[in-house]
Amino acid sequence: MAASASTSLERELTALLGDGAVLPGNTRAYLTDATESRNLRGRADAIALPADAAAVARTVAWCYEHDVPIIPRGGGTGFTGGAVPLDGGVVLSLENLKTIRHLNPGLWRAAVEAGVVTADLRRRARENGLFFPPDPGSAEQSQLGGNIATNAGGPHAFKYGVTGAWITGLEFVLAPGELVRVGGPIRKDVAGYDLKSLMIGSEGTLGIVTAAWVKMIPAPEAALPLAALYRDSETGCAAIEAVFASGVVPAAIEYLDGGSIEATRGAYPVELPGEARFMVLVDADGTAAEAAHIHEELTEVLSEDALLVHAPTATKEINALWRWRDGASKAVTAQRGGKVSEDIVVPVDRLREAIDGTIEIGRRHDLPACSWGHAGDGNLHSTFMIDLDDPADLTRAERAAEDLFALAVELGGSVSGEHGIGMVKNGQIQRQWEPAAVAMHEAIKRTFDPKGLLNPGKKLARV
Ligand SMILES: Cc1cc2nc3c(=O)[nH]c(=O)nc-3n(C[C@H](O)[C@H](O)[C@H](O)COP(=O)(O)OP(=O)(O)OC[C@H]3O[C@@H](n4cnc5c(N)ncnc54)[C@H](O)[C@@H]3O)c2cc1C
Repeated sequence: MAASASTSLERELTALLGDGAVLPGNTRAYLTDATESRNLRGRADAIALPADAAAVARTVAWCYEHDVPIIPRGGGTGFTGGAVPLDGGVVLSLENLKTIRHLNPGLWRAAVEAGVVTADLRRRARENGLFFPPDPGSAEQSQLGGNIATNAGGPHAFKYGVTGAWITGLEFVLAPGELVRVGGPIRKDVAGYDLKSLMIGSEGTLGIVTAAWVKMIPAPEAALPLAALYRDSETGCAAIEAVFASGVVPAAIEYLDGGSIEATRGAYPVELPGEARFMVLVDADGTAAEAAHIHEELTEVLSEDALLVHAPTATKEINALWRWRDGASKAVTAQRGGKVSEDIVVPVDRLREAIDGTIEIGRRHDLPACSWGHAGDGNLHSTFMIDLDDPADLTRAERAAEDLFALAVELGGSVSGEHGIGMVKNGQIQRQWEPAAVAMHEAIKRTFDPKGLLNPGKKLARV
């Protein structure tokens, strides 16, 4: 769209949404997401900041009528370019929908607008004695709507499941601009086709989430982490399988490989053994007695063959450990300034092959590689470290990612366990799905979005 048309678009949207609710299309903060670490930046004609769900519906209706693409945006922490406007259109930011409409501690539930920051919702739950388990590492920036649109996970998804497991109802805008509600403050609903689940994880390609009813649980009284260090991935992965075999249920089972440990070693709360090349990090939660019991059993299982076991008990030390874990992604990026990081998932018993395979693929493409992630879910963050000033590095890393996706499928896994397809994994779904399933994926998109204006060019099963 030409610059003058863009200006008239801004004026028309302002008339619709009010003064201050529309920013120029070149407002930099809205043109990228966490894929900035691989140099991805888009172009928009305007940024819309609607104040409430009705204004979101008006924006969608206007865009649909005028054939203008709509790119929904939450906290912009996505790792797949999902919120990046590829080729103009209106970036629709949900940041002003930040009201917790109801929170009912006695019934363990809340009605929450899409723009509420994940960590704020978790804190509000805690203040009321409740626990909202989804805990993506980006929780201080990501929004509930973005978590729903990507069906985000996190370390504690191992025990508690991903975001979708906690959503009992959704309010969303469907094309060409209808505000609808599916489900609500109800714990079961099998009436219609499961539209709620279709919206969850649809990455803004089927509709715009404006609010959700979430369920919660009483907050666990205690949570005690434990980090065990091993000399290699073979010993570390054997320890992970031993945890499964023990029948003890940790709330989280995380891992870091040797490269990730090196990138984060300096920030670790205690000194790590020089020969440590693998870490298993688990969490034991429940009542104080349950957590202590699980922790004891996990210590016994993980101590065998470990170089070191680090088990903080003071709140300050526990928080320091999780802060360190949350910083892993940034620390790895800092190694060379950029990274291409993919979130493949494999059956747990193939984890070691995926971890070692990541390093081998990096070697083939002449790139330093490492991985860390949610071991209990078989979910890796396989990462190729790149120099952003060297375009050849990015090209090699993108080729390496192709090999990685092939490896995930070969191991019986999936190209995405957490971050979705966005634009960076377009076409990869057809690697793992039969043609009839791919055709159904495309038919669903056409049904929800006949004009193809909702986050176009994203989550494509084939290209
Ligand atoms: C440091 C870091 C750690 C991370 N850790 C994790 C992790 O542990 N687990 C995990 O799963 N992910 C993780 N991520 C990835 C990312 O944070 C999640 O995908 C998160 O759910 C994205 O939320 P967001 O609000 O930032 O969405 P955005 O990045 O703004 O958008 C993501 C996608 O959702 C769409 N979208 C956003 N809001 C809406 C809405 N209201 N309605 C419809 N569509 C919408 C966008 O169009 C886009 O396609 C991490 C990212 C970073 C930077």
